[in-house]
Amino acid sequence: MDQTLYIHNSLTRNKEKFEPLNPPHVGLYVCGPTVYGDAHLGHARPAITFDLLFRYLTHIGYKVRYVRNITDVGHLENDADAGEDKIARKARLEQLEPMEVVQYFTGRYHHNMGQLNVLPPSIEPRASGHIIEQIQIVQKIIDAGFAYESNGSVYFDLEKYAQKYPYGQLSGRVIEDLDTQTRELDGQSEKRFPLDFALWKKASPEHIMRWPSPWSDGFPGWHLECTAMSTRYLGDTFDIHGGGMDLLFPHHECEIAQSTAALGHESVRCWMHNNMITINGQKMGKSLGNFITLDEFFSGTHPVLEKAYSPMAVRFFILQAHYRSTVDFGNEALQASEKGLQRLMAGIQTLDKLMPAEKSTVAPDEIRQKCYQAMNDDLNSPMVIAHLFDGLRIINLVRDGKETLSKADLEQLKRTYHNFVFDILGLKDEQNRNRMELVDGLINHILEIRQQAKDNRDFTTSDKIRNMLADLGIEVKDRKDGAEWSMK
Ligand code: ZN
Repeated sequence: MDQTLYIHNSLTRNKEKFEPLNPPHVGLYVCGPTVYGDAHLGHARPAITFDLLFRYLTHIGYKVRYVRNITDVGHLENDADAGEDKIARKARLEQLEPMEVVQYFTGRYHHNMGQLNVLPPSIEPRASGHIIEQIQIVQKIIDAGFAYESNGSVYFDLEKYAQKYPYGQLSGRVIEDLDTQTRELDGQSEKRFPLDFALWKKASPEHIMRWPSPWSDGFPGWHLECTAMSTRYLGDTFDIHGGGMDLLFPHHECEIAQSTAALGHESVRCWMHNNMITINGQKMGKSLGNFITLDEFFSGTHPVLEKAYSPMAVRFFILQAHYRSTVDFGNEALQASEKGLQRLMAGIQTLDKLMPAEKSTVAPDEIRQKCYQAMNDDLNSPMVIAHLFDGLRIINLVRDGKETLSKADLEQLKRTYHNFVFDILGLKDEQNRNRMELVDGLINHILEIRQQAKDNRDFTTSDKIRNMLADLGIEVKDRKDGAEWSMK
């Protein structure tokens, strides 16, 4: 069937036919986390959105090189290039080496992503590991005449750039408007124009993270790392750059300016942005008391939460909205979504047990086609989920003997559900897994009772337990230090 994928390009604001530069290879770059604190809901959405894209592109046959960076340097507290480095600040407060902070929170991030069943990217480069590449790009931009050195720092010359290239196309912002907004900010005396942004910053004496460069001992500006690492691993032109909508300006707008200034052309063919998450209709923020980490979600320990929500409930909830729509988290909606997920998983368990008939009285192919059509229409996951729910009706009718499916149709229906639910949407059957843990626990308890019987020389009971387990296909082997069991 037709597998033409259409993706909304934030730059052109149109859904465009996806045609990679070098098929079957696809280059995908996504802005990763700044690792100075626990991952929260704001990290979950881009991770899941681009995991869905990564999984789907792979499913339809592309070979995807997925690069998602770790920002471990250069992201200052104030996006106008001022304040302390976020990681260095955390390190100072905790009396740690900055790389200890980075290592610790990178590990925590990976753990949370694993819980959400987000696949690891193909390459996960760190900004601090690519200082040389960043210095090279700064030099290229200076050589092209779009950056200048000032007191050991290097700034992007936006006024000059805007004379030659369009600026603000991605965010729709106009330089004149921005100019009046930012003119009031202080500490910009090094810049020729208030909107110029730092490519390289000279480190103040107390700044811990610093590297030598032709201009000063210092550190790269935040926007630079993504230009350096994306082009380093994906080439000067690559297929897709993704990230949250909050990164559209200034981060991605600056990335476009940097690569255009350095290379003479844009690097990115398609920009994708996921929309933001709100909690009970409010923006998430530390000052609003609704800043919920993923750990707090999974344990239910935040006062806003009525209960714990499992990683799959959170993932399913996020996938029930299209990635370009906002998602509002609330207890009621989450619980409804939790029930929906259980219903879907129960449906798959029923499906897996269905027996084929001679002939089909229903045609399940329609579900498969509709699911692909929805995914091909700019990753419309809520529509995919709706079609999968529609299909549960057929599954239940077959279970009740009111409809039948041939062997081939039944196999195809199973494949459709397994492909879309597990491989593409990346959901896991948590309840089923919990049931397996329950079985393990129960058998171990039974074997303890058997051991007690043996210790009391009550061989009638111990043999009876062994035979009962054998009837269930569980083989018990006695060892010196207790019994071992396995399923036959
Ligand atoms: Zn980035």
